[in-house]
Amino acid sequence: MSDEINQPQHYTQWIECADFIESQNMGFFDGNAVKYITRYRHKGTPVKDLQKAKWYIERLIKQESKGAEEFSPGIVRCSKCLGVQFLKQGTDLVCLKCNELN
Ligand SMILES: [Zn+2]
Repeated sequence: MSDEINQPQHYTQWIECADFIESQNMGFFDGNAVKYITRYRHKGTPVKDLQKAKWYIERLIKQESKGAEEFSPGIVRCSKCLGVQFLKQGTDLVCLKCNELN
């Protein structure tokens, strides 16, 4: 009949989930968020599992926000003073802090 005893549904789903986490080279926070999202409907504690997923996602947001402040590839910084305010002149950017042409 059912393989609920040897391999409960949430367990086999967790194996697939673990393979996915490994294949994506996920870290502790994102891996755990994926784990809790994957199994929240199957362990009988959906709200608790979703709250755990939320906790891990919030840690990830905190971690990523900190990284963005330090050096984000999306933020252009002045090559001389590392300022972030520019005035665009044609195709050039002039730093408003030190007037360096970037
Ligand atoms: Zn500058």
